[in-house]
Amino acid sequence: MTPDLAILGAGPAGSTLAALLAQRGFKVLVFDDAKRPELLVGESLVPATVPVMRRLGIEDRVKAYSQHKPGVSFLHRSGSRIDFHFGPIAKSLPTYAYNIPRPQFDDTLRERAEELGARFVTHRAAVEKGDSSREIRLTDETLAAAGLTEHPRFLIDATGRARLFARTLGIGAKSGERSDVAYFAHFEDFDHDFEPAGQVVISILDHGWSWRIPLPGRLSVGIVIHKDAAKTYGDTPEERLDHALKHEPLLRDAARNARRITPVMTYTNYQLVSDRGHGPGWAACGDSFGFVDPMLSPGLFMALESARLFEEHVFAKGPEVLDSPDLLAAGFEAAEAELHDWHESWRELIRHFYDGGIFSLYETGTKFSARYRGWPGIAFMENHMTKHIASMASGAFTRRKYSRGLVNFMRQHMLRDCRPPEDYAVLPAG
Ligand SMILES: Cc1cc2nc3c(=O)[nH]c(=O)nc-3n(C[C@H](O)[C@H](O)[C@H](O)COP(=O)(O)OP(=O)(O)OC[C@H]3O[C@@H](n4cnc5c(N)ncnc54)[C@H](O)[C@@H]3O)c2cc1C
Repeated sequence: MTPDLAILGAGPAGSTLAALLAQRGFKVLVFDDAKRPELLVGESLVPATVPVMRRLGIEDRVKAYSQHKPGVSFLHRSGSRIDFHFGPIAKSLPTYAYNIPRPQFDDTLRERAEELGARFVTHRAAVEKGDSSREIRLTDETLAAAGLTEHPRFLIDATGRARLFARTLGIGAKSGERSDVAYFAHFEDFDHDFEPAGQVVISILDHGWSWRIPLPGRLSVGIVIHKDAAKTYGDTPEERLDHALKHEPLLRDAARNARRITPVMTYTNYQLVSDRGHGPGWAACGDSFGFVDPMLSPGLFMALESARLFEEHVFAKGPEVLDSPDLLAAGFEAAEAELHDWHESWRELIRHFYDGGIFSLYETGTKFSARYRGWPGIAFMENHMTKHIASMASGAFTRRKYSRGLVNFMRQHMLRDCRPPEDYAVLPAG
C-alpha cells in the first residue's frame, strides 16, 4: 500500500493525527524511531485535552493508569497561595484533567491509531530537500525501510523539538523571552499532602519555579531556573536538582525524606515557534511547529489541538484534498493562523504568572472581599474573575477576547492595596 500520508514521529501529535485521519479513511503510515526515553515531560494535562480523548474513545484507558487532576495550586516564596480548581470552569469542558505517566499515554494514542487502521514502522525517518512541488521528501533508504515503492503524497513533521523538516529546509524560529533550563525526576516519599488529591503544585522559588505533579505511586518534581543561576547550583543535573530540593524554602521540608527513583532529565531552549509551518507537500504538527513554555502545561494540549486543527481545516475534505495544492495551502494557512493565536494567548496568560501580575490581582481581590464582605456584587466579582482565570488555564477561555481583556483591564486599573507585581515575579538570574 502506498500511504496517503506519512507522519514522522509517534509522539502525542503524530499518533493523534494518525488516529483522526485513519478514522476519516486516509491511509496513514507513521514512522516511530523508538527513541523515547523512559522519563518524559508532559505529565500534567489541562481539561481541554479530555474532549480529544473522548473523541478517540480512550478516556477510560487513560483514566485507568492516571491520576485525576482537580486543579493547580500556586505557592509563592512570600507565603501567598492561590488555589485554582477546574470546578467552576466553563461548561464546555470537564471539570478535571489527568496527570499521566507519559510513556503509557503515548502508547495508548499509538494503540488507538493502530486499531483505527494506521500503520506504524519502527524506523528513524530521514528526509532531504525536494523540488517546488514537493519541498521535502523521504530518502530512498527511509522509503525502503517502510517497504514503499512510491513516495507518500503528503508528509507531516511530528518529530517534536527535533523539528526535522524545518532544520532540513533552514526554516528559522522565534525564541521566547526566557533562557531557562529545566531539571526533573520522579520521587518516592516526597511529602505531598495537598488537597484535593491530584492537585498539581507550582512554587515560585527564590530563583525560578518548580512543579510537583502527583502520579500513581510517585511524584514528578521539576525545577525551572535561569541558565546562569543553574550553574551556581552544581556541575551536574543531579547536583542542581538536589541543591534546589535542599535549599529552596518551599521545597526542602517536603523533600526531606524523598528518594529519587529515576535519572534526572534536562530540557533547555524549548520556547520557540517556527517561522513557517507548512509548504508544498508537508506540514508541521505539535512541538515541531512550536512550544510556548511549561508553566500552565499547554504542551500536550497544543499537540492534540494542532492535530485536530489539521483535521478540521484540511483533511475533513477527505483524501481528495491531497489532489489540490491550493486547497491544502489554504487549509494549512487557516490552521496555522489558529495555532499562532493559541500560542500568543497562552504566552499572554503565562506572562501574568511569570511577571507576578496574577499574585497582585489575587491579593487585591482577597483584601477587597474581606473589607466589603456582605456587599452585593462582591461575591459575584470574585467568582467571575476566578472562573475566567481558571477557564483560561483550562484551555476553554484561553483565546477569549473578553477573558483576556478582563485580566488585562483588572491589572491595569484595579490593582489596589497590594504588593506590586515585581515583588511576585519569577526572578531572573543574579
Ligand atoms: C520542561 C518541560 C516541561 C513540560 N511539561 C509539560 C506538562 O506538564 N504538560 C504538558 O502538556 N506539556 C508539557 N511539556 C510539553 C510537552 O512535553 C510537549 O509539548 C509534547 O511532548 C509535544 O508532543 P509532540 O508529539 O509534538 O512531540 P514529542 O512528544 O517530542 O514527540 C516526537 C516524537 O517523534 C520521534 N521522532 C523524532 N525524530 C524522529 C524521526 N526522524 N523519525 C521518527 N520519529 C522521530 C521522537 O522520538 C518522539 O517520540 C513540557 C515541556 C518542557 C520542555
